[in-house]
Amino acid sequence: MKFEPACSESDSKLEDRLNGILRCTVCLDLPRVSMYQCTNGHLMCAGCFAHLLADARLNDETSTCPNCRCEISKNLCSRNLAAEKAVSELPAECRFCSDQLPRHMLENHEGEKCLERLTNCEYDKIGCPWRGPYHELKQHAEQCTHPKKTGAEIMESLNVRDLKRAEEMKVYNKIHSMLSYEKITFVDLQLRPYRTDDFITKLFYETSRFSAFNWQWVIKARVNDDMKNPALSTKRSLTYQLILKSRVANPFDVHYLIVQGPYGEMNVMPAIYKSRFSNENFESDYEPLPIGDSLECNKLLAAKTINLRLIMFQIQS
Ligand SMILES: [Zn+2]
Ligand SMILES: [Zn+2]
Ligand SMILES: [Zn+2]
Ligand SMILES: [Zn+2]
Repeated sequence: MKFEPACSESDSKLEDRLNGILRCTVCLDLPRVSMYQCTNGHLMCAGCFAHLLADARLNDETSTCPNCRCEISKNLCSRNLAAEKAVSELPAECRFCSDQLPRHMLENHEGEKCLERLTNCEYDKIGCPWRGPYHELKQHAEQCTHPKKTGAEIMESLNVRDLKRAEEMKVYNKIHSMLSYEKITFVDLQLRPYRTDDFITKLFYETSRFSAFNWQWVIKARVNDDMKNPALSTKRSLTYQLILKSRVANPFDVHYLIVQGPYGEMNVMPAIYKSRFSNENFESDYEPLPIGDSLECNKLLAAKTINLRLIMFQIQS
């Protein structure tokens, strides 16, 4: 017996119909990341989910599903593994050769298998600028002049690499040398969301008071550098400042840096800041929390609290 599709939807391919069913109801994309669902089953990709929760935090509202307006939160919503797995089986196009293959194979194909994938010459380390499709690599390698260059000829590109590397290592070297300071301390802290009591209230974060070097301190953080309404921008960032809450006898300098700390979920890059504190100057400048992109920032805003470890180095005068 032959199976006859019942309705006119059969005109479109099964994949296309599944695309429509499984895509994120917010960005309409088929996500490669996790998928969440509201209590009524509407699907949202992890990025959109975090964005909705972050927006609600910024606007001091309850976050709701854009489709059915039911309340959404980390507790109320769940992953949908079946949808995630179904998406990973749907075909997607390789960005190099345009072949169609299941999504879960795409990364491996584009990274290691595809004959059209862009590849560097193996002598790029010593300055060969060649970059082309993988299937032309062999031919290039036979003609590449770089293996035959003299030491003097490749010195320049080696110098450029060294400079770049030294620049990247600067912050690590600085941390390493600061570890020899006499006065070092660290505290594990939680930034909690609060709202200003202005007419239009604004979200900010604050830790509870903590003690370091026998003085009292607090950290404040704000979104998009005190922009009036960060909810209107898709670009999100956090800046923070260190505030001294004690009276001190003499001015002093402190280096400080934030790391993820135990149980933290923040993807933070190393950045050291320095500030001089005294009774008149008890607040550091607002400095960027180096967390990468807006996506990462939304993840932090979507969470209830931000866990971090603050490391402080007091500079001996
Ligand atoms: Zn989405
Ligand atoms: Zn819903
Ligand atoms: Zn390909
Ligand atoms: Zn080459």
